[in-house]
Formats: sequence, C-alpha cells, structure tokens
Amino acid sequence: RSIAELDARLVDCRACPRLVAWREQVAREKRAAFRDQDYWGRPVPGIGPHDARLLVVGLAPAAHGANRTGRMFTGDRSGDVLFAAMYEAGLTNQPTSVSADDGLELYGTRITAPVHCAPPQNKPTPDERDRCSHWLYSEIELLTPTVRSVIALGGFGWQVALRTFAGLGWDVGRPLPKFGHGAQAAIRRGDDELTLFGCYHVSQQNTFTGRLTPAMVVDVFGAAADHAGI
Ligand code: SF4
Repeated sequence: RSIAELDARLVDCRACPRLVAWREQVAREKRAAFRDQDYWGRPVPGIGPHDARLLVVGLAPAAHGANRTGRMFTGDRSGDVLFAAMYEAGLTNQPTSVSADDGLELYGTRITAPVHCAPPQNKPTPDERDRCSHWLYSEIELLTPTVRSVIALGGFGWQVALRTFAGLGWDVGRPLPKFGHGAQAAIRRGDDELTLFGCYHVSQQNTFTGRLTPAMVVDVFGAAADHAGI
C-alpha cells in the first residue's frame, strides 16, 4: 500500500457521525468572509512528500481553515505561523499558504494530524481520537523507512505520537517522556531510531498570548530538520 492510496481512502471516511455532521454543517453554512468559496468539508489528508524525513503531527483541521481549503493548516492563523516558521527553517518554498493550489512545496517534511476531520471547538472526543488512529498508524508505517524526526505540535499530538509508536512496537521509554516546548525523546525499534520533538501548538491561544513566539517555532523546526538531515 502507498501513501497515495491511503489518502484516497481517507477522504471518503465517514466513521465519526458527530464529526461528519459538523464538518458538513460548517461547509454548508460557511463564514461570511468565505461565502463565495466551496468548502472541502471532508477528511483532510496529510501533505508533503511520501519519503519525508520529518513528520509533523498536529491536532485536527480547523473548521474554516483546512476544512475549507482541503489542505492541512492552509488558510488559518495557525498555518500562518507554521508556514512562516517552516520557510525560515528552509522547509518550504514560500512563507504562506492560503489555498490548496497556491504552489506550496514542503521539503522533506510531511504534515499530518491524529484526527482528520474538524471537531467542534477543536476538541475531538477520546472515541473520535481512537477511531481515527488507524490512519496515523498506517501513515507512520509507510513513512518509517525514511522518517528520522517527528515534531508533535502540542501535548495532544505528543501523547498520540507516543501511543502510536508504542502500538507499532517502538520502544518509547518508561516512564513516558513528558511534553514540553523543546522536549526531545529518542524512540527505537530494532535498528530504526528517531527523535520526537515537542513544540507548543501554533494556535492563536499560544501565539496571541506570547507563550509561543515565531522564533521558538523556528528553533524546534530547525533542530528537527538538522537531526533528519534535511
Ligand atoms: Fe474518519 Fe478520522 Fe474523520 Fe473520524 S475523524 S470520520 S475516523 S477521517
């Protein structure tokens, strides 16, 4: 199986009734500023090369961001911060991402999410998180031959990443490594080894309050890219 096949199946998933209803309701009702646009309103697949050396694990698509544009982090404030930092760290060809056909290229980096449909209040339930987890399991298995660094954006992404790697037979350490901005944890399976990096989520809650500055994001992405040899 390939990532392209995985993504093609993912976009048809309707396994979570609450999230299907929400993503489609948002796509119908729209935000006034986007009322002339067609919303995507479906599961949002990961973006970036299929032989990525760096994997970024976020949370879930934003209702009027990726749920509108169909591309992870594209078209919302979180994405503005993320793509500006990735550009600064040499991981994209442009510092912004506003629509799915704006020419954005990711260098050696794939961005995905543990939950692929926009949840109300950005909060998936534990059931929804668990139901969506098999997509991440498959995506990580398909990326394992090349990926050397994983960045978890926020504590949710960190927990899910550890749980997913442990479920795939990786040694993630005991006690489980704690999340923090700049935290690093080595993960091993046989001869494979990669490093998990913690980064506060690029949400407005963190960036507007100054808890997370653009320079802090660039630092983590730069370190993860160096480690991955990008
Ligand atoms: Fe399917 Fe995941 Fe969307 Fe649930 S959140 S409907 S499992 S893609």
